[in-house]
Amino acid sequence: MGVNDNVIKLRPHHLLCTQGYSGKGYSEGFVDNMSTVVDRLRNGNDEIQIVFNTDNICRSCPEKLGENLCKSQEKVLRYDSKVVKYFGIEEKNYHYREIIKEIDSKMTGEMMDDICGDCGWYPISACKRNIVKNSDLESE
Ligand code: SF4
Repeated sequence: MGVNDNVIKLRPHHLLCTQGYSGKGYSEGFVDNMSTVVDRLRNGNDEIQIVFNTDNICRSCPEKLGENLCKSQEKVLRYDSKVVKYFGIEEKNYHYREIIKEIDSKMTGEMMDDICGDCGWYPISACKRNIVKNSDLESE
């Protein structure tokens, strides 16, 4: 199933990961898939489907144990629920550019630390730099 002819499904916290991703990931297969998804989202004009489940990114991830089951299940459900709570995300379709614009306009450094603080990629990828407004980063 090609990624180009389908609506991309994303779990809530992947609205952040797709913005912070900078080419590093769990395995070669993960990076190939993640790069394809991220390139399409960053350069295209996609409508996406939010799912409270494993998604188009999880599907090539070595951490995925099964349908709606990640090796770090407690963590990823916590990240999802914080994104849902902070930004009122629902299980429905959104225009990717519009929803990340809305999230980024509200995100503070403090909120981002609260959501992503114990993620192993947070200090490695460009998440905070790409998402939090410059003025807020400078005031920290
Ligand atoms: S670590 Fe878990 S939530 Fe993240 S992409 Fe892999 S399977 Fe999905």
